[in-house]
Amino acid sequence: MSKEKDDNYWRDKLTPEEFHVCREAGTERPFSGEYWDCFEEGTYRCRCCGEPLFHSGSKFDAGCGWPSFDAEVAPGVVAERPDNSLGMQRIEILCAKCESHLGHVFPDGPTETGLRYCVNSLSVKLDQDESNENSQDGEGNEGDKE
Ligand SMILES: [Zn+2]
Repeated sequence: MSKEKDDNYWRDKLTPEEFHVCREAGTERPFSGEYWDCFEEGTYRCRCCGEPLFHSGSKFDAGCGWPSFDAEVAPGVVAERPDNSLGMQRIEILCAKCESHLGHVFPDGPTETGLRYCVNSLSVKLDQDESNENSQDGEGNEGDKE
Protein backbone atom coordinates (compact mmCIF):
# COMPACT_ATOMS: atom_id res chain seq x y z
CA MET A 1 0.00 0.00 0.00
CA SER A 2 1.29 3.43 -0.91
CA LYS A 3 1.44 5.90 1.92
CA GLU A 4 1.63 8.81 -0.51
CA LYS A 5 -1.64 7.83 -2.05
CA ASP A 6 -3.16 7.77 1.42
CA ASP A 7 -1.83 11.22 2.19
CA ASN A 8 -3.23 12.63 -1.02
CA TYR A 9 -6.56 11.03 -0.31
CA TRP A 10 -6.77 12.55 3.16
CA ARG A 11 -5.34 15.89 2.07
CA ASP A 12 -8.22 16.14 -0.32
CA LYS A 13 -10.81 15.14 2.24
CA LEU A 14 -9.64 17.14 5.26
CA THR A 15 -8.86 20.76 6.01
CA PRO A 16 -5.13 21.52 6.47
CA GLU A 17 -5.65 21.68 10.25
CA GLU A 18 -7.50 18.37 10.32
CA PHE A 19 -4.86 16.78 8.11
CA HIS A 20 -2.07 17.94 10.40
CA VAL A 21 -3.74 16.57 13.53
CA CYS A 22 -5.29 13.39 12.14
CA ARG A 23 -2.68 12.23 9.66
CA GLU A 24 0.52 13.83 10.98
CA ALA A 25 -0.20 13.30 14.69
CA GLY A 26 -0.38 17.00 15.38
CA THR A 27 -1.93 18.58 18.44
CA GLU A 28 -4.35 21.45 18.38
CA ARG A 29 -3.81 24.27 20.83
CA PRO A 30 -5.57 23.71 24.18
CA PHE A 31 -8.90 25.51 24.64
CA SER A 32 -8.95 26.18 20.89
CA GLY A 33 -11.03 23.23 19.78
CA GLU A 34 -14.68 22.88 19.16
CA TYR A 35 -15.47 20.29 21.83
CA TRP A 36 -13.32 20.82 24.94
CA ASP A 37 -16.21 22.54 26.73
CA CYS A 38 -19.03 20.92 24.77
CA PHE A 39 -21.36 18.70 26.76
CA GLU A 40 -24.05 18.03 24.21
CA GLU A 41 -25.26 14.44 24.16
CA GLY A 42 -24.20 12.31 21.29
CA THR A 43 -21.54 10.14 19.77
CA TYR A 44 -18.12 11.40 18.86
CA ARG A 45 -17.14 9.87 15.54
CA CYS A 46 -13.82 9.68 13.77
CA ARG A 47 -13.41 12.85 11.69
CA CYS A 48 -11.84 10.80 8.91
CA CYS A 49 -13.94 7.66 8.57
CA GLY A 50 -17.03 8.28 10.73
CA GLU A 51 -16.48 5.34 13.04
CA PRO A 52 -18.09 5.88 16.49
CA LEU A 53 -15.26 6.31 19.03
CA PHE A 54 -16.58 7.95 22.20
CA HIS A 55 -19.94 8.73 23.73
CA SER A 56 -20.76 11.98 25.47
CA GLY A 57 -21.64 9.95 28.58
CA SER A 58 -17.97 9.14 29.12
CA LYS A 59 -16.84 12.73 28.60
CA PHE A 60 -15.62 14.73 31.55
CA ASP A 61 -13.99 18.07 32.11
CA ALA A 62 -10.32 17.43 32.72
CA GLY A 63 -9.54 21.14 32.66
CA CYS A 64 -6.77 20.54 30.14
CA GLY A 65 -8.36 22.26 27.17
CA TRP A 66 -9.00 19.14 25.14
CA PRO A 67 -12.06 16.87 25.09
CA SER A 68 -11.47 14.06 27.61
CA PHE A 69 -13.20 10.73 27.94
CA ASP A 70 -12.85 7.91 30.44
CA ALA A 71 -13.72 5.09 28.03
CA GLU A 72 -14.00 4.23 24.36
CA VAL A 73 -17.54 3.64 23.08
CA ALA A 74 -16.87 -0.07 22.49
CA PRO A 75 -13.83 -2.27 23.15
CA GLY A 76 -11.31 -2.11 20.32
CA VAL A 77 -12.54 0.95 18.44
CA VAL A 78 -9.58 2.94 19.74
CA ALA A 79 -6.11 1.55 18.99
CA GLU A 80 -3.09 2.34 21.14
CA ARG A 81 0.62 2.49 20.45
CA PRO A 82 3.63 3.73 22.39
CA ASP A 83 4.74 7.27 21.60
CA ASN A 84 8.16 8.23 22.89
CA SER A 85 8.38 11.54 21.07
CA LEU A 86 9.19 14.81 22.83
CA GLY A 87 11.18 12.86 25.44
CA MET A 88 8.00 11.55 27.05
CA GLN A 89 6.62 8.06 27.32
CA ARG A 90 3.01 8.33 26.29
CA ILE A 91 0.40 6.13 24.69
CA GLU A 92 -0.89 7.47 21.41
CA ILE A 93 -4.52 6.70 20.57
CA LEU A 94 -5.74 6.17 17.03
CA CYS A 95 -8.91 5.22 15.25
CA ALA A 96 -8.61 1.45 14.93
CA LYS A 97 -10.31 1.55 11.57
CA CYS A 98 -8.42 4.23 9.63
CA GLU A 99 -5.45 4.92 11.95
CA SER A 100 -6.30 8.57 12.31
CA HIS A 101 -4.43 10.17 15.21
CA LEU A 102 -6.80 11.05 18.05
CA GLY A 103 -4.57 12.11 20.92
CA HIS A 104 -3.14 10.27 23.92
CA VAL A 105 -4.47 8.17 26.77
CA PHE A 106 -3.18 8.72 30.30
CA PRO A 107 -3.56 6.46 33.36
CA ASP A 108 -4.62 9.31 35.64
CA GLY A 109 -8.34 9.51 34.99
CA PRO A 110 -10.54 10.62 37.91
CA THR A 111 -13.29 8.05 37.31
CA GLU A 112 -13.48 4.33 37.98
CA THR A 113 -11.85 3.42 34.65
CA GLY A 114 -8.73 5.30 35.74
CA LEU A 115 -8.20 6.40 32.16
CA ARG A 116 -8.15 9.79 30.53
CA TYR A 117 -8.49 9.75 26.75
CA CYS A 118 -7.26 13.18 25.76
CA VAL A 119 -8.55 13.83 22.26
CA ASN A 120 -8.16 16.62 19.72
CA SER A 121 -11.47 18.23 18.75
CA LEU A 122 -10.23 18.14 15.18
CA SER A 123 -9.95 14.35 15.28
CA VAL A 124 -13.61 13.77 16.04
CA LYS A 125 -17.03 14.99 15.02
CA LEU A 126 -20.01 15.07 17.34
CA ASP A 127 -23.08 13.30 16.08
CA GLN A 128 -25.79 14.65 18.38
CA ASP A 129 -28.51 12.39 19.66
CA GLU A 130 -31.70 13.44 17.99
CA SER A 131 -33.92 10.69 19.27
CA ASN A 132 -33.43 11.85 22.83
CA GLU A 133 -35.21 15.17 23.09
CA ASN A 134 -36.28 14.89 26.70
CA SER A 135 -33.73 17.44 27.74
CA GLN A 136 -35.29 20.15 25.59
CA ASP A 137 -37.29 22.74 27.46
CA GLY A 138 -40.49 21.89 25.66
CA GLU A 139 -40.81 25.07 23.70
CA GLY A 140 -43.18 24.52 20.83
CA ASN A 141 -44.31 21.29 22.38
CA GLU A 142 -47.26 22.63 24.31
CA GLY A 143 -50.46 20.66 24.19
CA ASP A 144 -48.58 17.45 23.58
CA LYS A 145 -49.35 15.98 26.98
CA GLU A 146 -52.37 13.85 27.91
ZN1 LIG B 1 -11.26 6.57 11.54
